[in-house]
Amino acid sequence: MTIELRAADGGVVQVAPEIVQAFKAGFRGPVLTPDAPEYEETRKIWNAMIDRRPGLIVRCTGTQDVVNALRFARQHRFLVSVRGGGHNISGLAVCDGGVMIDLSPMKGVWVDPKARTARAQAGCTLGDVDRETQLHGMAAVLGFVSATGIAGLTTGGGFGYLTRQYGWTCDNLVSMEVVTAEGKVLRAATDEHPDLFWALRGGSGNFGIVTSFEYKLYDVGPEILGGAVAWRAEDAKEVLEFYREFSAQAPRETTSVAVLRKAPPAPWLPKEMHGQPIVAIFVCHTGRIEEGEKIVAPLRAFGRPVADIITRRPYTQMQTLLDVANPKGRRYYWKAHYLARIDPKVIDVAIERASHLPSPHSVLVFFQLQGALGELPTDHSPMGNRDAAYVLNAASSWESAMDDAENVHWARETFEATRPFSTGGTYVNFLTEEEGGERIEAAYGKKTLGTLAALKMKYDPENMFRHTKNVLAGAGKTLQREVVNT
Ligand SMILES: Cc1cc2nc3c(=O)[nH]c(=O)nc-3n(C[C@H](O)[C@H](O)[C@H](O)COP(=O)(O)OP(=O)(O)OC[C@H]3O[C@@H](n4cnc5c(N)ncnc54)[C@H](O)[C@@H]3O)c2cc1C
Repeated sequence: MTIELRAADGGVVQVAPEIVQAFKAGFRGPVLTPDAPEYEETRKIWNAMIDRRPGLIVRCTGTQDVVNALRFARQHRFLVSVRGGGHNISGLAVCDGGVMIDLSPMKGVWVDPKARTARAQAGCTLGDVDRETQLHGMAAVLGFVSATGIAGLTTGGGFGYLTRQYGWTCDNLVSMEVVTAEGKVLRAATDEHPDLFWALRGGSGNFGIVTSFEYKLYDVGPEILGGAVAWRAEDAKEVLEFYREFSAQAPRETTSVAVLRKAPPAPWLPKEMHGQPIVAIFVCHTGRIEEGEKIVAPLRAFGRPVADIITRRPYTQMQTLLDVANPKGRRYYWKAHYLARIDPKVIDVAIERASHLPSPHSVLVFFQLQGALGELPTDHSPMGNRDAAYVLNAASSWESAMDDAENVHWARETFEATRPFSTGGTYVNFLTEEEGGERIEAAYGKKTLGTLAALKMKYDPENMFRHTKNVLAGAGKTLQREVVNT
């Protein structure tokens, strides 16, 4: 029977079954059509708001599979999406009707303790990499939730507990292996295809499919000092004012995250607090534990905490503390911007907005940045935004589709209410499904976006990688024309 697949230009391509058979014969991993038993589970990603049905899912086992998949898609002009960890809020990993190139089976990690580097395949989660690097008492600069994919996180920037010491995740890459839109395998590094290397460090999935990342490693753990302290929401103003000072003065080894939410039924929170509004500060100190104890002492002594789980613990455990709050399969919608500081007025707005949280799972979060981030030149990578001191994320999370409107509305309203305090910049990896054009420009800035658009014309002139936060859409038609004509 003929198979219908979505074309990149929006049309439909009829494919004879023998063409799919021939492709399958040269492909090592599973190739799933919608009637395959594993299809339903494989098409699902972290955010249940995304319900797309690819025409074909090709599950790559190595670089050769990625090359074959891209050449096949290019030859027949199929729409393509690329899945790493499947954690992107806007669900870019899954396309409707086209070919989903799924890298999640590619999970190799090789640590070179002497060179202090690790090479990780693009299907790894953060947890996969931390597990292997911690064996050597080292870590790469990754994010806060262990199930997140390294591929989307790194190509879109990346920040976590080590960012204040070492910069964005993408600032800490040594090299990448990339399959280009033409199906060529390249090594991108400062001495090989440096322009591609630059573009891939923040330019998101626009420039090729990265099959492996080579990260710099740093001495971390295996034990660190970390955990969280929680207070009742009635103390939120004083706690957030304390947080502003504490976070601004803390050394780079100490990173903290402030969260406003209703208390989940977690064992670390007293039963009588479950469902009650709270403010919590998560903290991780990766320097000497004794020093960390002195640094976090004022935090632990502040006000009347209802819970305190700061302790000496494995770094890998710290990296999973926020996992339980972000399970796969719930509905999610985020709106975020960068802040240069925590203005006293933004504290009032945040508390007011948190008092209207429509769901017990939703959170308003301040992630701390700054430190080493601001020391590199603005154009070191497309990530820019080196003046960002915090990311403020209004993160809605709920169970039922019937509650979509209310929860999306809360995040949007919170975003608008906090907009006056934003640097104007935003994080490409936190952009929601409908955020294109000007929000992509906000993520990169006009100048960087122009450079990215020019490189897009060099490395992907047919826009194979359009199922992304597309830099051509962000650059706008005028800029696209300028770029094409130069
Ligand atoms: C629960 C949760 C926690 C998070 N925490 C953090 C955090 O602490 N720090 C942080 O910086 N971000 C964080 N993020 C955001 C995260 O960085 C992005 O969602 C990122 O896109 C996830 O990567 P992925 O591989 O899982 O995504 P996917 O959904 O698989 O892919 C996302 C995008 O990346 C592109 N892509 C995927 N694989 C490749 C590849 N191999 N080569 C080129 N492009 C590719 C895709 O085309 C797509 O556009 C978090 C997200 C979630 C859901």
